[in-house]
Amino acid sequence: MEVAANLEWIQEKIGQACARSGRNPDDITIIGVTKYVTIERTKEAIDAGVKNLGENRNEGFLEKHSHIGNQAKWHFIGSLQSRKVKDIIDKIDALHSLDRMSLANEINKRATVPIDCFVQVNVSGEESKHGLEPEEVIPFIEKVEQYAHIRVVGLMTMAPHIDDPDQIRKVFRNLAQLRDRIRGKNWTHAPCEYLSMGMSNDYEIAVEEGATHIRIGSKLVGS
Ligand SMILES: *Cc1c(COP(=O)(O)O)cnc(C)c1O
Repeated sequence: MEVAANLEWIQEKIGQACARSGRNPDDITIIGVTKYVTIERTKEAIDAGVKNLGENRNEGFLEKHSHIGNQAKWHFIGSLQSRKVKDIIDKIDALHSLDRMSLANEINKRATVPIDCFVQVNVSGEESKHGLEPEEVIPFIEKVEQYAHIRVVGLMTMAPHIDDPDQIRKVFRNLAQLRDRIRGKNWTHAPCEYLSMGMSNDYEIAVEEGATHIRIGSKLVGS
C-alpha cells in the first residue's frame, strides 16, 4: 500500500477515536516509525505529508537523518546507550526513552540546548519492557531538575502484546493519570503535557485515552 493511502486511513481512524472521546485531532502527532524500511520508503512518507519520523537505533537514525535532514522532526524512540548519546543528541527533536539518571547525566553533558524528553514508564510490569516503574517516575523527575539540558515534556509507554483491549486501555489510562499528577506539580523543568503511547495495533485505544504522540510503523510505512 502507498504511504499516502495508509496515512489517510489512519487519520480517519484517529478522527473517529477523537469523536468518541471528545478530542481534537490537531492535538495528535503521528510519528512515522521508519526502522523497518528503506530511505526510498521514508521519502515517500515525507511526500505523503508525514512530518515526524521515529527511529530506534543510532545507525538507522543517522542514515535516515543524513538523507532527510530537516524535512522531518526526529524522534528517537529506542533505548539509548549512554556512550552513543553524543552521536545523536544534537540531531534529534525529542527522546522518548529517558529511563535512568546516568542517561540524563550524559545528555546534560553532551547537549548544547535543552532536549525535549519523554520519560519511559513500564506500566504493564512486563520483565522485557524498558522503563521506570510507575512509582519511580516522580522521584526521578524531581532529581532531573538539576540538569539544565533536560526538559521533561511527557511520558511514554509501550502496551503489552496482548489481544485484550481492556488490559491495553488500562495501561494507557494509568499513564495518563500519572501524567496528570506530574503536570499538576507545575514544575518548570517538567511541563509533562504529552503522552507518547499507541502503535500500529493499539493507537485507536491510545487516542481515546489521551495520547498526544502515536508511533506507527507497520501500518503506515510497512514492516
Ligand atoms: C517499532 C516501534 C514502534 C512502531 O511499531 P509498529 O507496531 O510497527 O507500529 C513504536 N514504538 C517503538 C518504541 C518501537 O520500537
